[in-house]
Amino acid sequence: MKAVIALGANLDDPKSALELAIALLREATDVISVSSFHITKPVGGPAQPDYLNAVAIIDSELPALDLLHLLQGIEKSMGRVRTEKWGPRIIDLDLISYGSILSEAEELTLPHPRAHERRFVLEPWLEIDSEAHVLTHGPVREILHQLPPAK
Ligand code: ADP
Ligand code: MG
Repeated sequence: MKAVIALGANLDDPKSALELAIALLREATDVISVSSFHITKPVGGPAQPDYLNAVAIIDSELPALDLLHLLQGIEKSMGRVRTEKWGPRIIDLDLISYGSILSEAEELTLPHPRAHERRFVLEPWLEIDSEAHVLTHGPVREILHQLPPAK
């Protein structure tokens, strides 16, 4: 099943962090494509450095929660410490969508509840999948047209 994963980093050396996270993903799953790395302004949270964001599309047969735990394991192995919500981070791996799974559970909401309002997810995603859709919100190309321009 195809999974869309958003990667973000804004501490130390974000480019190396994204590269390492992708290498670890390749060890555990079948990575189909990876976007370029986009420099973006932080959204919400405290004053913090700019982010480097990317999106990867992988193929996996894992149950959804196992895939989430795999992503969290990579975050942990890279030294992510959870402090304040939306604060700066070494690495963040979010599961944006997984096949056609719909979930409203707090531990795993699918599609990711804020993906449709985040340029830093939608733009790299569209770059590697011109037909990208958010199940609950429609074609990424159209959602991006509706979003306010980047500041
Ligand atoms: P954020 O990415 O929103 O800054 P975290 O990475 O710290 O925050 O994740 C917070 C919680 O979000 C995690 O405990 C996780 O269980 C939950 N969560 C719910 N849905 C998802 C999803 N689709 N992808 C990743 N985490 C999710
Ligand atoms: Mg996260």
